[in-house]
Amino acid sequence: MKEIEIIKPDDWHVHFRDNEILKAVVPETTRHFVRSIVMPNLIPPILNARQAIEYKKRIKKAIPAKDSFEPLMTIYLTEKTNKNELKDAYNSGAVFAVKLYPAGATTNSESGVKDIKKVMPVLEAMAKIGMPILIHGEVTDKEIDIFDREKVFIDQKLDFICKELPELKVTLEHITTKEATEYVKEGNKNLVASITPHHLALNRNAIFVGGIRPHNYCLPILKRETHRQALIKVAMSSNPKFFLGSDTAPHLKKYKESDCGCAGVFNTTYCMQILAQIFENHNCLSNLENFTSINGANHYKVNINKQKIKIIRKNKPIKFEDKLKINDEEILIFTPDFPVYWEVIT
Ligand SMILES: [Zn+2]
Repeated sequence: MKEIEIIKPDDWHVHFRDNEILKAVVPETTRHFVRSIVMPNLIPPILNARQAIEYKKRIKKAIPAKDSFEPLMTIYLTEKTNKNELKDAYNSGAVFAVKLYPAGATTNSESGVKDIKKVMPVLEAMAKIGMPILIHGEVTDKEIDIFDREKVFIDQKLDFICKELPELKVTLEHITTKEATEYVKEGNKNLVASITPHHLALNRNAIFVGGIRPHNYCLPILKRETHRQALIKVAMSSNPKFFLGSDTAPHLKKYKESDCGCAGVFNTTYCMQILAQIFENHNCLSNLENFTSINGANHYKVNINKQKIKIIRKNKPIKFEDKLKINDEEILIFTPDFPVYWEVIT
């Protein structure tokens, strides 16, 4: 039996939703993670410090007593966001970062940004105070092929932002393409990227195995195997610019399995086990800790966690629970199509 001990990880991108779903999914994250950046795309979205503080209270109520966990709150950037209010929200500690969704890019992003130029004064103010911006990096033009939307966003929008404001701390979230890995590697020191476990585990074939697989539908959409290989390479490389952001995104099963199913993969439950397996499969287990527990903390300039977790390799593949109950409804838990032998002991 093999066993490794690593610094207890952080998840730099989660969706906790609200109400009954929030109560069910928060403990799934707090079991293995110390901190998470919490996305603001509720209906209606979190637009100011007051709403972020209220939302944080609801999250804290759902944390089991045994877990110590810190939700780091974000504000949803719109073309009306007030830069002075944002500065106050950041300086008071109520808000950790700002999320930029191009309008219509993903779940609940209708109030997002249509014209990047309109938010440049806000981004400039953020650069001055060191407040991070987290970017969903896809264009939303219907004419652009869905598999190209990340690359086009980088060329048309991100490059402009990074050149105008090299001091701005930018996270290109949930990257999915070789182009993104290259752009981030070569970009200025303030540009980093988060990577999800499902984009490391699956390529786009997983959406169409013997039929349509709505639970593997997410945004940005899964890409070709060559892109997955590029993500694996940077995630395993210990390059400090790449770290875990699971983008765990719960939707009730009935809203995934529908004629217009929601985008998102609920992956937090077995996130660490799956990552341990992928890193082991690539003989890079010794780099797991950098990816899950060090690189992100360093970018966001927060302390490295003191707690540790043990990850143990079993002789047999672990048996997955594949559903999380929400009253009479359920959410499907992401499980990969390869065996996972790793178990987390906290
Ligand atoms: Zn997300």
